Parts: sequence; structure tokens; C-alpha cells
Amino acid sequence: MEKGARLYEGKAKILYATNDPDLVIQYFKDDATAFNAAKKGTVQEKGIMNNKISSKIFQFLEGHGIATHFVKMLSDREMLVRKVAIVPLEVIVRNKAAGSLCRNYGLQEGTVLAHPVMEFSYKCDALNDPLINDYHVLALSLATQEEIDTIKKYTFQINEIMKQFFKNLNLELIDFKLEFGRYKGKIILADEISPDTCRLWEIGTGKKMDKDRFRHDLGNIEEAYQEVLKRVTK
Ligand code: ADP
Ligand code: UDP
Repeated sequence: MEKGARLYEGKAKILYATNDPDLVIQYFKDDATAFNAAKKGTVQEKGIMNNKISSKIFQFLEGHGIATHFVKMLSDREMLVRKVAIVPLEVIVRNKAAGSLCRNYGLQEGTVLAHPVMEFSYKCDALNDPLINDYHVLALSLATQEEIDTIKKYTFQINEIMKQFFKNLNLELIDFKLEFGRYKGKIILADEISPDTCRLWEIGTGKKMDKDRFRHDLGNIEEAYQEVLKRVTK
């Protein structure tokens, strides 16, 4: 697979073209940002860890019938993926209260939710990724009703699969963010699934094993990501 022109550089990854117009390479960087890039830093080898963790999770989801963009890992930092047109939504699922859910609704961190919450944010850095609902999605033509229904169905399935996956690794899936894209007329799961995009708490100790260690300067970020990688690949 030949690496072609750089198509896009984001906060955590770079996309490169390949000699196949249907495929692109995701290159995972060590850069870390939080609070809409107000906080910036680097985490040693984060790109390598997130590439490997994401690859494992995509393979696991594929094995459970979820269509993803994952093709294969090309190197420590590179993942070959199907090139999609990203649906400009951050699809968030929450099983316990954390982060902005606590801030917005006055909940204590760790509160058990009576029902999982699904949220859409409009993927737009200039607007600070505002929280939106189905009507906004339709009004702004971000996705069709059929696409919204498909995304919701897949997202709840993915939540069930991932909750069990992490539970088996003694980790609790508190919340996470997904991105979907259009590929040959179908909606498939894209982007990454890693400790950058999930909140993972160790069962028993409650230790945070995710990007909250960076957001809130809790220390030992690399160690936490390495531990997640070790469990995911064991
Ligand atoms: P951001 O743009 O939020 O800073 P990243 O640094 O993670 O994010 O950049 C990766 C970009 O690539 C994101 O904009 C994401 O939506 C997009 N992307 C993820 N998977 C694919 C794919 N399979 N095809 C095309 N674009 C993708
Ligand atoms: N998330 C993400 N990217 C974003 C926003 C959120 O991956 O741009 C993930 C985040 O890591 C967490 C979940 O989505 O697992 C819910 O995030 P929340 O809204 O609580 O984020 P915060 O306000 O704390 O940044």
C-alpha cells in the first residue's frame, strides 16, 4: 500500500491518501488536546497505543457484526481504513455520569444512570461542538432520518458489545464517543476507539484509565494507556 498525499491533519491524527481511492491511512500522533484544544500537550507513545487499542476494538466489533472502516494495521502508528464521508456528529453514549453530563445536569461523578444516554454533538470546532438533537440534525441536513436511526441502532449495539468487552478486562465503560461515515451507500463506524475517546474506570479501584488523567493532570497517563493496551491485547 503506497502512502500518498496528506489529506488532513487533525488534533490527534493525520489522514493520508493511498493508491486506492477507497482507502486512506490514519496516522496516530502523540498530541493530546482537551476542552476544545484549550489544553494541549503530548503523551509519549500515545499514537502507538491508540492505534493498537483501536485496531483490536474494531476487529472485535467486526467479529460481532458491526461494519467498521478498519482494514488492517500497517505499522505502529498507521491504520489502513476505508475512506468515508464523515457524518459531522460526535455520537456519545453514557452509562454513568462523568464530564459534561455532571457539569450540565448537576450530577455527581459516577452516578448510575437509570438508562444509558445518547447525545449528538455537531462536529464543528469553530462552534465548540455544540450539543444538538435529532431535529437539529435534520434541520441542518447533517444526516437523514434513516441515517439517524441506523446510527442509533449501531451505537446501542456497540455499547453492549464494548461494555462486555471491557468488563472482561476488569474495566468499566463509563462513556465514549463514536463517529460514523458514509461508504458506498452504507453507514459504517469510523475514526478511533481508544482511551482518548472512552472513559474507562478500573473495576474495584475506580482508577481512571483514560484521557481524564490528561484533562485533570492526574499523572501517570502513559502508564494508564499502556495498561489498557496490555489488557486489550492479552
Ligand atoms: P479532529 O479532526 O477532531 O482534530 P483527528 O485528529 O482524530 O480529529 O483527525 C481525524 C479526522 O479524520 C477526523 O476529522 C475524523 O472525522 C476523520 N476520519 C476518521 N475516520 C475516517 C475515514 N475512515 N475516512 C475519512 N475521514 C475519517
Ligand atoms: N469525547 C471525545 N471527543 C470529544 C468529546 C468527547 O472523544 O470531542 C468523549 C470523551 O472522551 C468521553 C465522552 O466522549 O469519553 C463524553 O465526553 P464529555 O462530553 O463528558 O467530555 P468533556 O466535556 O469532559 O470533554
